[in-house]
Amino acid sequence: MAARIPTLDLVKNYSEVKDEMLEAIRSVLESQSFIMGPEVRLFEEECESYLEGVSAVGCASGTDALLLALMALDVGEGDEVITTPYSFFATASSIVRLGAVPVFVDVDPKTYNIDLEKAVSAITPRTKAFIPVHLFGQMAPLEECIVEFERRGATIVEDAAQAFGATRIADGRIMRAGAMGRIGCFSFFPTKNLGAYGDGGMIVTTDEKIAGRLRRLRVHGADSTYFHDEVGLNSRLDTLQAAVLRVKLRHLEEWNEQRRVVAGRYYALFAENGLMGEVTIPFELQGNRHIYHQYVVRVKNRDELQKHLDREGITSRVYYPLPLHLQRCFSFLGKKPGDFPESELLSRETLALPVFPELAMEDQARVVGAIKEFYMK
Ligand SMILES: *Cc1c(COP(=O)(O)O)cnc(C)c1O
Repeated sequence: MAARIPTLDLVKNYSEVKDEMLEAIRSVLESQSFIMGPEVRLFEEECESYLEGVSAVGCASGTDALLLALMALDVGEGDEVITTPYSFFATASSIVRLGAVPVFVDVDPKTYNIDLEKAVSAITPRTKAFIPVHLFGQMAPLEECIVEFERRGATIVEDAAQAFGATRIADGRIMRAGAMGRIGCFSFFPTKNLGAYGDGGMIVTTDEKIAGRLRRLRVHGADSTYFHDEVGLNSRLDTLQAAVLRVKLRHLEEWNEQRRVVAGRYYALFAENGLMGEVTIPFELQGNRHIYHQYVVRVKNRDELQKHLDREGITSRVYYPLPLHLQRCFSFLGKKPGDFPESELLSRETLALPVFPELAMEDQARVVGAIKEFYMK
């Protein structure tokens, strides 16, 4: 029996960078400077030059990045924040955690990103922020709505947790995920396309005042140690994680490009095998450089297919089985099945297939072969 194909192979990834990584970690261990050591600022600087025109503030996780971003905007009770119901939980929990109301807007059935026209229609005088998610590694075309949101006094906070390095060409300019709106949030959870060896996150902003506030909020709201101007969080980016991320950032372009190669091979394999009717492959919007943090297809009989793949030694995942508006903890919002039909349909039909830079062509052929066997039997 051939080896099991995982959705992501971090062991293989580690073996590629092992020497650099051990050296980076050793240097932190020798300094014994674990909290806000020099690597944190160095990594922030490297992100600033990678993303161009932003200030970067490291923090403890992607969830905290969202929470800190909304705190820096004084989002609280009585405020509304527009977002998508088809995302990871943290996108909406950060809003609810601060006493504000998430106003869900359904997604575009092709890209699975929030429908921007509907998002603009959802603006009210109480809208304080808008959190679009660049889902699975593909950017939402925010240039279509930035002006309107800003004009109506709502700040755009991009949830770019799945899209470090994704770009978009629009209006003759290159836009980078996280650096299009006023604030962008990243996660370095180990399985993200830029993943640490533990938790980590980052907020980037084009607004220096907000950057200063974020730097204070991540250290208990203190401007200088033991003098607190406001109540913040304990949410720093760990120095060891910053050292790990500095090594990985050097390889990110190459890894993202390789993810695109893997996606291109899936496309060819599905086409050659006559599966384009059964399998809806990811749709890359004009101008986008999708970095395929996830390679998510849309199929009928999804759960049966997943079981079949599992029996064939192929791991796949469902992102996300229950849209956010139907989560029990948000039942107080009074949403019900049918309110966001596109998201609800996606939660029944999407399946994330193995995708990672090191994924071999033969393994992809096995994945597609197993899918063919399922639909053609
Ligand atoms: C991973 C993720 C987060 C949260 O990041 P953590 O680092 O796990 O806290 C937020 N939003 C989206 C879309 C994510 O995928």
